[in-house]
Amino acid sequence: YFITFEGGEGAGKTSVLKAVEQRLLENGHEVVATREPGGIEIAENIRQIILDPSHTEMDGKTEALLYAAARRQHLVEKVLPALQEGKIVLCDRFIDSSLAYQGYARGLGMEEVFQINKFAISKCMPDLTLFFDIQPETGLKRIAANKQREKNRLDLENVKFHEKVYEAYQLLLDKFPGRIHSINADQPIDMVANAAYEKIVSFLH
Ligand code: C5P
Ligand code: MG
Repeated sequence: YFITFEGGEGAGKTSVLKAVEQRLLENGHEVVATREPGGIEIAENIRQIILDPSHTEMDGKTEALLYAAARRQHLVEKVLPALQEGKIVLCDRFIDSSLAYQGYARGLGMEEVFQINKFAISKCMPDLTLFFDIQPETGLKRIAANKQREKNRLDLENVKFHEKVYEAYQLLLDKFPGRIHSINADQPIDMVANAAYEKIVSFLH
């Protein structure tokens, strides 16, 4: 099964994904944990280009195409082979991030961005998507407090941008009610991880 983790900045996706991976492994599941953009060499290189804070001149469509290119390579090289072997793939961000960030918050249009992503992923949509729900302001505060986090170009965006991202995820929840499930991320990370794990286990059964 292909399971993706989505949400705005500071929602705890990365930490929760690690915790959930650990618990699934302990319970005898075969799991591949990965992230976007990245997960494999070519896509990690594309990630560096996209997120380089000095690339302030990057055009929105260029950005969207680079995300789609990284997604394609990661899917073909890592996700699809793992799914073929019957593994559970946990992926930190996927197509919904592009729809929310580039499609909606950047204003390229969700439908337009969906089109280029259809080309990139063929028909491989996630089986289950967890949306980690936290108010943008709360998430941004968490990030500001985390000194280990590396700076990226998105740090230049204001709260308004992140509020748009949040709005976009609400639209996506309405559009894909069967696939996307909301998890309250405004609680201690252990409890968020618990909720995510329970949701995944009930999906697997
Ligand atoms: O999830 P992660 O923190 O690794 O994402 C890195 C950065 O890329 C974040 O600032 C996120 O907002 C941004 N991003 C984006 N558009 C995407 C995916 C991620 O702007 N489609
Ligand atoms: Mg993260």
